[in-house]
Amino acid sequence: MSDAVEVAIVGAGPYGLSLAAHLREAGVSVRQFGLPMQLWRDFMPEGMFLKSQGFASNLSDPDHTHTLEAFCRATGRPYASYGLPVPLDTFVAYGKWFCDELVPDVEEVLVTDVAQAGGGFEVSLANSEQFRARKVVVAIGVEAFAHVPEPLSALPSSVCTHSSAHTDLGAFRGQEVVVVGAGQSALETAALLHEKGASVRLVARKDRVIWNGPPLPLDRPLLQKLKEPESGLGSGWATWFYSNQPGLFRRLPRSTRVYRARTALGPAGATWLRSRVERQFPVLTGYSVTWARVQDGGVRLGLAGAASSSRELAADHVITGTGYRTDLTRLPFFGDQMLAGLRTVPGTGSSAVGRDYQSSIPGLYVMGPAVAPTMGPVMRFVFGSEHAATTVARQLAGGAVSRSRTAVTAGR
Ligand SMILES: Cc1cc2nc3c(=O)[nH]c(=O)nc-3n(C[C@H](O)[C@H](O)[C@H](O)COP(=O)(O)OP(=O)(O)OC[C@H]3O[C@@H](n4cnc5c(N)ncnc54)[C@H](O)[C@@H]3O)c2cc1C
Repeated sequence: MSDAVEVAIVGAGPYGLSLAAHLREAGVSVRQFGLPMQLWRDFMPEGMFLKSQGFASNLSDPDHTHTLEAFCRATGRPYASYGLPVPLDTFVAYGKWFCDELVPDVEEVLVTDVAQAGGGFEVSLANSEQFRARKVVVAIGVEAFAHVPEPLSALPSSVCTHSSAHTDLGAFRGQEVVVVGAGQSALETAALLHEKGASVRLVARKDRVIWNGPPLPLDRPLLQKLKEPESGLGSGWATWFYSNQPGLFRRLPRSTRVYRARTALGPAGATWLRSRVERQFPVLTGYSVTWARVQDGGVRLGLAGAASSSRELAADHVITGTGYRTDLTRLPFFGDQMLAGLRTVPGTGSSAVGRDYQSSIPGLYVMGPAVAPTMGPVMRFVFGSEHAATTVARQLAGGAVSRSRTAVTAGR
C-alpha cells in the first residue's frame, strides 16, 4: 500500500465536496470522484426552489468563508439567511463555485468497484483505471435509490417516471399528467407542470396536504424563542435536536432512530409553494393507486379512497414524487465481498456507522442520507454536511482538523 492514496471519496455532492475541502486544508492526500452537484444539476426540475433556508444551505469548509451568502455577495445574487427561497440555479452555481475554489481536482468519472485489498481498498473507475486507497468515503446521496411504489413500478418509463427523471417539465406542455405524492418534490413538480402548461392532477394517500408554517419572526420575544427554537431543519425542540445533535441521536434506541429517521420532517410543502398549488389544479387526497395499466399510449390508474370509494384516472403520463429508499445492495460498486462485511441497520438498507461515520468494514466511511437511521434526519439535508465533514475529516486527518471549527451556527 506504499503507493496508495490516503483517502478516496466517492461522490461530489454537498457532503463529498465539504469533506474534500476539510481534508485538503488538513493536507491529506485525496482523490475524489463523481459529477459535482450532479443530483441538483441533472435530477431536479428547472425553476425549482430549495426548501431549506439560506443559512441552512451551506456546504462546509474549514474557515466558513465559502458560504452561500458569500457566493451570493460575490456574484450579486439576492440572499437572505431566512425567508427568501433559494433558487435551484443559484444553489448549483454555488456548489460549482465552492468546487472550483476549494476542491478543483474532482475527477469526473464514476467508481465501478470498491473491494478490500491489502489492508485497504482497491478502487476501479469507469475509465478502467484501478488504484489503491487506504480509506474510502462513500457520499453518493440518494439518486441511486429513487423509489417508485407498486403498482406504478410495473409501468414502462414511456408513461411513468420518477420525479428525478425530469429537469424540463415544459416538455409536458399540453399533456395530462398525474403526479403521485404529497411531499415537497411532488407538490413542486405539480406546480411547475401546471405553470408550464400541462393539465395536472395530484394524487396523495394522506387525507390532506401538510404545509409548513411561515418563518417565525426574527425579533420574537426570548421566551418564545426558548419555547420554539429555530434551527437548520426548522423550528421546535425536536427539530433543534435533529439539526444539532447527530452524535446524541446515535445513542437513541435503534427502533426510535429508524422510526425518526423515516418520519421526522416528513412529507410537507414549503409555505411559499402553497398558493401555487391550492385552487390551481385538482388535488385528490386520501387515495391510493391500486392498479395501473398502459392504455391508448397513455396510462389508466385505479384509485381506492376512504370508505371504499374508488375512481379511475386516465392521463398521458404519471410522475411519482415518492422519494428515495436507501438500499446499499443497489449500489453498482459494492460486490458480494463488500456487502457481506457491511453491517446495515436492521429494518433498513442503510449502513450502520460508528460515531466517526466508519462502517463495519474498517476504513470504509459512509456519510449523508445513507446513514440517516444512525445519525438522524439531518443527514437527509445539506445542513448535515457540517457535522459529517468535520467529524470524518478529523478522524482521517488524525485530529488535525480543529474542533473549534465544528460549531454549527445558524448564521442569523
Ligand atoms: C428534489 C429534491 C430537493 C431537495 N431539496 C433539498 C433542500 O432544499 N435542502 C436540503 O438540505 N436538501 C434537499 N434535498 C436533499 C439532498 O438530496 C441532500 O441534501 C444532498 O444532496 C445530499 O448530498 P450528498 O452529497 O450526500 O449527495 P448528492 O448531492 O446526491 O451527490 C451524490 C454524488 O455522488 C456521485 N456519485 C454517485 N454514484 C457515483 C459513483 N458510482 N462514483 C462516483 N460518484 C458517484 C454523484 O455524481 C454526485 O456527485 C433535496 C433532494 C431532492 C431529491
